[in-house]
Amino acid sequence: MTLNVALTLVSLTVLVLSIFAVYLRDRSRYAAWWIGLLISAALSNAMSLVITDQNALITVPPANAAGVYSAACAWAASRALRGARTGWRLTLPGVAAASVASAIEAHELGYWAGSTVTLLCMTVYFVLSARDLWMLRDSHARAEGDVSASAGTMAITGLAVGASALATFYVWRTVLFVALGPEDPFFAAYAGVSANALAVLFLLIIITFTLSELSQVERVVDLQMRATLDTLTGLWNRDEFTRRAAVRLRGHAGGATVVVADVDRFKQLNDTCGHAAGDRALAAFGATLRDGIGARDLAGRIGGEEFGIVFATGDTQSVLTHLSEIRGAYARATAADVETMPTVSYGVAVVEPGERLDSAIHRADAAMYRAKREGRDRIVVAERPRTDGASSQAA
Ligand code: GH3
Ligand code: MG
Ligand code: MG
Repeated sequence: MTLNVALTLVSLTVLVLSIFAVYLRDRSRYAAWWIGLLISAALSNAMSLVITDQNALITVPPANAAGVYSAACAWAASRALRGARTGWRLTLPGVAAASVASAIEAHELGYWAGSTVTLLCMTVYFVLSARDLWMLRDSHARAEGDVSASAGTMAITGLAVGASALATFYVWRTVLFVALGPEDPFFAAYAGVSANALAVLFLLIIITFTLSELSQVERVVDLQMRATLDTLTGLWNRDEFTRRAAVRLRGHAGGATVVVADVDRFKQLNDTCGHAAGDRALAAFGATLRDGIGARDLAGRIGGEEFGIVFATGDTQSVLTHLSEIRGAYARATAADVETMPTVSYGVAVVEPGERLDSAIHRADAAMYRAKREGRDRIVVAERPRTDGASSQAA
């Protein structure tokens, strides 16, 4: 009881601080989810104080639902840090499952009704939250040269450790609850209400400590996405593609291939089907490229209807296979108001050891223009540099 009162007081203080010191200043989604977590955790806590065996049917389901919602908020906050939104489709299932299970069991089990499902749902959300934070931490640590490379890596690490500790505690709680039951003295001492209050207190401290910095991280990630992604196709924009491609070429141990792709007679498509339809055809090509390249390859929109790809291999045959698949997939793709998808001309340049990006792009571009001259809708492989500039046709 004393612990619960202390927890309520600390939560309220943290809530007021979070709203005034962080949320109203930053308006970040991360801070908003965190406030959602505090409010639902406080509600759950307050409701659990008034539960008796007599009123269990109406007090336990909302108390458990609020508890699960607070865990869902923790996951949503972690997702917000990498710019992902979280809708009711992801939060509602757990909340609904806990409410229903609690309502079904309330008249038999009183205070502990529905707790297995509640604990399980909370565990799942905490585990997802910890997983997302570690993935985010990895991408921050790996993103060499990015604007946000070091932004908040420490804070994210701290939070990931905290979330993992909480997730572990909830796995432990759920296992003991199922194995021993809520009345067992071991469960009560090491996984019961007081142990939970301590765990939550610990999380409150970690999050409050990192809140302001992480709200900043979310804004930096958001700005960085706007500055580096092409909104129509979802590919890297020209500057970011060039920057990443140059980094790849400098470090390519296993070879690399640069491809320039230009949509054929695109002006005609705009004229006949409308500019909006043209936009959708470009978006569809962006989606086809994203699906068609491997995790180590790179694709960007380098002009209006012109795209660049860097394959992480110097093997011409494997690149040609990839491109044929992309061609086929794009021919089968659909877009509203576009009767048949336009064809695409590709120029392929296998990067020579020590060759610079602009030289490789220049060769790929020349090969692409040769594909245009020879009738479009084909792939032309550039010959090696410093020959007579001739190239060979592949398809
Ligand atoms: P080619 O086969 O020789 O490449 O012919 P083309 O018509 O594709 O080439 P051209 O360079 O003459 O025309 C490209 C057109 O692409 C002109 C421009 O209006 C259109 N375009 C550029 N960016 C966009 C865009 O974002 N959306 C739409 N709908 N059209 C665009
Ligand atoms: Mg074109
Ligand atoms: Mg063009």
